[in-house]
Amino acid sequence: MSYLLEARKQRTPQWNRARRHNSVPSGVCVIHTAEGNGANNVLDWILTRSDYGSYHRLCDATSTLKLAPWSGETFHCRFTNPHSVGISAAVKAADWPALYKAGTGQKIIDRMAIEAADFVTYMKGRGVTVPVKRISRAEALAKKPGFLAHEDTDPGRRTDPGKDFDWDYFFERIRHHLGQTTATTPAPAPVVSTGLTLPKKGEPYYGRVIDGQPGPYTYAALQQFLADRQYYDRVVDGDPGPYTWRGMQQFLADRNFYDRVIDGQPGHYTYAGLQRFLQANGWYKRVIDGQPGVYTWRALQDYLARRTTK
Ligand SMILES: [Zn+2]
Repeated sequence: MSYLLEARKQRTPQWNRARRHNSVPSGVCVIHTAEGNGANNVLDWILTRSDYGSYHRLCDATSTLKLAPWSGETFHCRFTNPHSVGISAAVKAADWPALYKAGTGQKIIDRMAIEAADFVTYMKGRGVTVPVKRISRAEALAKKPGFLAHEDTDPGRRTDPGKDFDWDYFFERIRHHLGQTTATTPAPAPVVSTGLTLPKKGEPYYGRVIDGQPGPYTYAALQQFLADRQYYDRVVDGDPGPYTWRGMQQFLADRNFYDRVIDGQPGHYTYAGLQRFLQANGWYKRVIDGQPGVYTWRALQDYLARRTTK
């Protein structure tokens, strides 16, 4: 096969087919975020940049770009380039929580894990066992095989792939792709710290003031209500996204309050369905207009305040 750095012109050469100092791959693998969005955008940037910076593999949620063979050298980590390999996510390190919430973070990490498993297999063919675990900077500099963050190798200068990169999920997926686990379903979504105080079992979903102003606690109550009924399986974080609204739409559809496409995008019909649901339960007494205002949100808060978590 042809690798992209073999095939595509670069303003400044971004790889060495033969590694410097007669080096060979040690089994050290450095994990990055490229601080850009989308693998092709990042590749364009690599091809046109005038300084050095490249990876062996570059992943986003839908594609994996193979930039260079494992045998060659890319320029991703100034302390270990001659013997290490680099796998990068074409995202920004700060975006992981939002990416997990949207379900794309897991896909990106899974793609990185496929490449990492490929690297482990490649090294095995060279007689080197790469343990599926994190190693220290000292170990990486001593060419001991394993995985580490770019931040670990270059502290103070680099912070990628960021504190929210889910190493446990990454390693779980590597083991899966190596055939070392029997799990057929992906590991649960990474837990993101929310800062919200969530109700304990048996407490009301909503325990705040009923003011008709939806905020994190209103949305968290809705998420937990949906989660208790198998309509939501993500983090209860009070920040509604497509998964929350998809759950809401499905919940309403199953009760004949919504008959449009389940797309996770709340609009007129979703809100009208919510109003009808609340009306049927006695909590909403205004016109069904699909325009949620104070009365709709107050009704929802009231409804959730009178039901308790499972
Ligand atoms: Zn990096």
